[in-house]
Amino acid sequence: MSKREFQTEVSQLLQLIIHSLYSHPEIFLRELISNSSDALDKLRYLTLTDETFKSFPFTPRIDLELDEENKTLTLADNGIGMNEEDLVSHLGTIARSGTKNFLSQLSGDAKKDSNLIGQFGVGFYSAFMVADKIEVVSRKAGEDKAWRWISDGKTGFDISPAERDTAGTTILLHFNEEGKVYANSWRLQEVVKKYSNHIAFPIFLTYDKSEWNAEEKKSEKTRTTEQVNAASALWRRSKSELTDEDYKELYKSITGESQDPLFWFHTKAEGSLEYTTLFYIPAKAPLDLYQAEYKVGVKLYVKRVFIMDDAKELLPQYLRFVRGIIDSEDLPLNVSREILQQNRILTTIRTASVKKILTELKNIATNQPEKYLEFITEYNRPLKEGLHNDYANRETLLDLIRFKSTKVEGLTSLADVKSRMKDGQKSIYYITGGNEGLLRTSPLLEIYKKKDLEVLILDDDIDEIVFSGVDKYEEIDLKAVNKASTSEDLKDDAEAEQTADKTKELQPLLDKLKATLGDQVKDVRASVRLADSPSCIVSDEEEPSLQMLQMLRAMGQ
Ligand code: ADP
Ligand code: MG
Repeated sequence: MSKREFQTEVSQLLQLIIHSLYSHPEIFLRELISNSSDALDKLRYLTLTDETFKSFPFTPRIDLELDEENKTLTLADNGIGMNEEDLVSHLGTIARSGTKNFLSQLSGDAKKDSNLIGQFGVGFYSAFMVADKIEVVSRKAGEDKAWRWISDGKTGFDISPAERDTAGTTILLHFNEEGKVYANSWRLQEVVKKYSNHIAFPIFLTYDKSEWNAEEKKSEKTRTTEQVNAASALWRRSKSELTDEDYKELYKSITGESQDPLFWFHTKAEGSLEYTTLFYIPAKAPLDLYQAEYKVGVKLYVKRVFIMDDAKELLPQYLRFVRGIIDSEDLPLNVSREILQQNRILTTIRTASVKKILTELKNIATNQPEKYLEFITEYNRPLKEGLHNDYANRETLLDLIRFKSTKVEGLTSLADVKSRMKDGQKSIYYITGGNEGLLRTSPLLEIYKKKDLEVLILDDDIDEIVFSGVDKYEEIDLKAVNKASTSEDLKDDAEAEQTADKTKELQPLLDKLKATLGDQVKDVRASVRLADSPSCIVSDEEEPSLQMLQMLRAMGQ
């Protein structure tokens, strides 16, 4: 027997899990079942793609065995299994770099934290919320030795050789005080149905079932094994067979979220390519939305077989908040990441998926504006990234994005801005380069106020970069008010003459100012853009502004 210590982060995590996530301890079961399901997916994949495993006998299943008397639960799968090395590294360290981040985000608010736990995949350790001792016996597929891992979740764990007839993993939980409520078959069935009903594999529960014996007139206990989950690839059924509840439940089981999604889009494509997609929009933006190492939310399946859940090429990066499933009939099962990157089939699915998502969002914007507001409050910014990166869908994205403005409270669409344009207004105007308060009080806006022209307030840090690349909305020029040439727009002929006169009149002053300021400015001009303030700074048409230079630097360009 060899004793090992937990990595410091694991100990830290265990402390937190045990002490702050008490409000939903039931998620331990979801986490363990999802690990088993992953392990079954991995082995199934091997039996379909790897010669050495092709003849491997494999009927995937998950078995829960309840011992009410001794307050223990066994959870077994015949999946890929773990060898000694795997046990040490998977159940003793935390490989994921996002976990440190997770630790720092824990708030102490049990409800919020238990949502986090699913997102950051600290899954296995959550079992220590309900157990004071856990034994794992595992044998890796293709190897003949089995190993036992035992821990009390405090100091560390022991590893020793063990016996197991076939490949797979068995986890034995000794329930603690808090966990004892789960030593109950009703409760277990309820929790499995709640979180794991649509896991693709059957989950069986073995327990002492009480049944009424009419002859003897008393209830009797019989050891019984029953399947508890529906185990169907629900997304393959037709929409008409599915209820809202089905969709929500599947969402929760694939994401680990406890909140309902905002909406979902379910599509079955038949024709030259056959595939099913089911996309969900989470009610709240994922916490890692703005991290370079964000977790991919869409899982790839081929013919109902899980292939991978970390393929960034399934959807463009700006749609990284989308959750769901792509299930293709045409991709090969052994499709690798390298192949995915330039695969024609995937490219077609991806292009169609993006169209579908954006079109559906546009429908919602039109037909359910209030619901759309909930969406855009969370996701306006990633859509703006799309403007920068997805040229093909720019028109649609411009319709989806919402703006702050000098004319309306809250958010407005470009279509509405366009409909409010005044007679003779040549362009749609916007201001960037600071926070909302700063922008709203900018002297640059004075002339627009005076002329009663609407100006969009773009206060997101990426706005300047993104919108400097967008010249038009439906044939109408989009112009930044802090660019020198924009003021040309504002002059009518009389004013143009006036400025020319003024410039002549002011020339000595302008020359003097220019001489004094020297290299600090490129030019000093008489302007029509100010109403009350004496002067303002603008940038030249071709030159990136100060904020933009800073952003480009931050983006490593
Ligand atoms: P995650 O599932 O997010 O990777 P977990 O803490 O739930 O994190 O599990 C850690 C790792 O332990 C898994 O990635 C997997 O490699 C291994 N593991 C856990 N349970 C099993 C199992 N039943 N069969 C095989 N491997 C498992
Ligand atoms: Mg897990």
